Amino acid sequence: MNVTARWVTRLIFLLLLVSIVAGIKVFGTKFMHREDGSTAGYAFDSFVMGSVMTVTIRDPDKALAEKGAALVLDEVHRITGIFDPHNPGSEISRLNNSPRDGVPLTIGADMSLVLSEALRIRDASGGLFDPALGELINLWGFNSESAKHELPDSARIKALGDSLRWGAGIRLGENGKTVILEPETGRLDLGAIIAGYAVDRSVALLRQNGIRNALINLTGEIGVLGVGSNGRSWRVGVQHPRKSASHLGVIEQVEGLFVATSGDYERYFVREGRRYHHILDPRTGYSAKEGAAISVTVIASSCIVADAASTAAFVLGPESGVKFLDSLGCQGLIVYAADGDTESGKLAYRATEGFLRIMKPDLEGLPIL
Ligand code: ADP
Ligand code: MG
Repeated sequence: MNVTARWVTRLIFLLLLVSIVAGIKVFGTKFMHREDGSTAGYAFDSFVMGSVMTVTIRDPDKALAEKGAALVLDEVHRITGIFDPHNPGSEISRLNNSPRDGVPLTIGADMSLVLSEALRIRDASGGLFDPALGELINLWGFNSESAKHELPDSARIKALGDSLRWGAGIRLGENGKTVILEPETGRLDLGAIIAGYAVDRSVALLRQNGIRNALINLTGEIGVLGVGSNGRSWRVGVQHPRKSASHLGVIEQVEGLFVATSGDYERYFVREGRRYHHILDPRTGYSAKEGAAISVTVIASSCIVADAASTAAFVLGPESGVKFLDSLGCQGLIVYAADGDTESGKLAYRATEGFLRIMKPDLEGLPIL
C-alpha cells in the first residue's frame, strides 16, 4: 500500500485472523479496541485488483461490519469482472476484441461512466492520461503477475507508437450508451481510474446500507464515511516515496473527500541508474519522467477523479501538473527529484495552495508510529 490509514495509534491493537465473510475470502481481520479493551470496530483485508484492500468499519456490531465488508468485496469483484483486460469474458475485453472501425459499440452504465471521466481527464491533460495504452502496458508487463522486469525492445515500442493513435480516437455516442473506437485506437486499459471508481461505489453502498463510520483503502485510493476513533476525522498518512517506513504528513480525511496516490515506487525496476515504472508517457512509450516526478497525491470530491488526476498529474510533471490540478478544482501534491535524478534521494515538491493548508509535507520523512 502506498498510503496508510490509521486510527489514533494508541487505540489500535492488531490481531490477524483468517475469516470467511459471506463466502468471499477475507484473509485478515483486525479488531479495533478502545482504551478500555472493548471492540470499537473491525478492519478486513482482502486481495483484489492485484493489491491489498482494507475495509475498516468502526462499529462494534460484528455482523454489521461483516455485512459491510462483504458488500464492498462483492462490488469490487463485480467491477473487476467488467474492467479486467486479462479476463476474456469482461466487457473491456469485448471492446478490445472489436474492430476499430468507428461503428458504435454498446456499453453498460459502469463502462459509460468510467469512460466519460477518463475522456474528460484525457482532454484536460492534453492526452497524457490515455485510456487506451493497452498494448504498451502489456509490452512493459508491469501489470502481469509474472512481471519479468526487463526492458522491452525499443524497436517494438517505436512500432507501437507509429501504428497506433492510442486513445485519441475514442468517443462516446449519444446518451453515453455506445462507444466509438476510430481506426488506430489501442486496447483499452482503465487501470489508472478503476480503483477510484470502485471506492466511490463502495462508499455509496456502505452509506445506503446504514454504515456510518468506515474507511476503504484500495491500492492507495481512499474514501471515508463519518469519523474515525474518538469521533475525530479519519487520519490518512501520505507514504514517503523513498522511505517505506515513513510518511510525508497526515491528511485529516473528512467525509466527501477522497485521496489517491500514484507513485514510481510500487511497480518498478532500476536499470543503469534509471527507474522504469508502471506510469507510462504516451509520447515516448517509456515510463513518465517529466520534471522528474516521483509521487502525486490528490484530494478530490470523488475518488474516480482523484485516481485519474493523480496518474495524469504524474505524467504532466510538477510544473504543468499543479496547473492541471488547479484547473480541475482538485488539491494535490507532486513530489519530484530536486536535481532531476529520481535515484539521488534529493526531493522537492510543488502543491496547490489548498493542499498546503491541509498538509505540510515533511520531505525528510516522519516515522509511522
Ligand atoms: P496505482 O495502480 O499504483 O494506483 P495509477 O492509478 O497511477 O497507479 O495507475 C497506473 C496504471 O494505469 C498502470 O498500471 C496502467 O495500467 C495505467 N497507465 C499507465 N500509464 C498511463 C497513462 N499515461 N494514462 C492512463 N493510464 C495509464
Ligand atoms: Mg490513478
